[in-house]
Amino acid sequence: MEPVSLYIHIPFCRSKCFYCAFYKDILDKDLCQEFIAAVKQEIMAYALRYPETVFGTLYVGGGTPSCLQLDLLEELLEFTELKFRFLENAEKTIEMNPETVTQSFLDLLKKYSFNRLSTGIQSFSDNELNFLGRNHMLCDIEASLHLIKKNNFHNINMDLIFGLPGSSKETFINNLKTAASFNPAHISTYSLSIEHGADFYKQKIEVIDQEEELSQYKAARHYLSENGFDHYEISAFAKKGFYCKHNLVYWSYKPYIGIGPAASSFYQNRIYSNVPDIRAYIKEPLFSVNNILKTNQTTKDMLIKEYIIANFRRLDGLSINDFKHRFDLDFNSLYKDTVAKLVQEGLLCQKESMLSLTERGLFLLNNVLLEFM
Ligand code: SF4
Repeated sequence: MEPVSLYIHIPFCRSKCFYCAFYKDILDKDLCQEFIAAVKQEIMAYALRYPETVFGTLYVGGGTPSCLQLDLLEELLEFTELKFRFLENAEKTIEMNPETVTQSFLDLLKKYSFNRLSTGIQSFSDNELNFLGRNHMLCDIEASLHLIKKNNFHNINMDLIFGLPGSSKETFINNLKTAASFNPAHISTYSLSIEHGADFYKQKIEVIDQEEELSQYKAARHYLSENGFDHYEISAFAKKGFYCKHNLVYWSYKPYIGIGPAASSFYQNRIYSNVPDIRAYIKEPLFSVNNILKTNQTTKDMLIKEYIIANFRRLDGLSINDFKHRFDLDFNSLYKDTVAKLVQEGLLCQKESMLSLTERGLFLLNNVLLEFM
């Protein structure tokens, strides 16, 4: 049986970053306790329904998992280990923010065999961190990275944001140079987007010019490839052997189960998400397991769209042969005009049976995907 990936969503943060439109709530100890009890119910329900499932990766994300009380985080991890089976060499990632990294937190991660840490650094400039409304400063980043290294964690991802108002190619490359000086195995770069629900949206913060943003993206691609990182997904760069196995499951259309509010799943050929509301989730944590998995409301058309969205994110692109094998359809006939248009616009290129995005296509992914929807 093919191993499945497991995502657990911890929807709490100490405060709200100004650019953030993700689903999360401000940390509240009583609510956290009720939340952990609900998550345990959902885990139990999956374990009873699918006792044969073996997990190849675990990703604890958020929100900010590292801001949970340690005894609650331990209760959750202990229960997960008890109820689910993992491969011996499973990749286990957890997200953290620099100001929350302590020795006790890292000891807990070692106890539960986490082997990949994803740090929400975003920038090495105090001015940019202030602008973004982050809770940490450069000194917190340095202290946390030293502590992480001292504890012999080597598979580290750093999240960084580019395209901030007033930024330039030079300022972003300076951020990347500082990142590289800590020798991370993985760097993820995201452009600042102002989305509905974020404070920046209400404040009508203006995004920078798209060509300037593209020039920062290109410069980052160039700098990182010169410094030993493979660009393997729109936002993801890694040293050899350190591609994120969990995220590659999403980007390769393989099965995953998401636990917790707002978490999405692709399991048993069904695509579904839990309710994006902590209180509603706590009231009915088994909604997905009890309802969605019993009926199949996922159509072939939905699966095809999901396949396209996932596969174009990877630099190697979408395999026409694999598409044929999965859906018994010829991609080039189905999307003949769309492919021809995108190739002509310089956003897509075809090499034998692989269709992949050009550099500009990568940057304009959403526009490309819209053409297939
Ligand atoms: S960006 Fe991350 S840390 Fe900041 S509010 Fe959003 S989820 Fe929380």
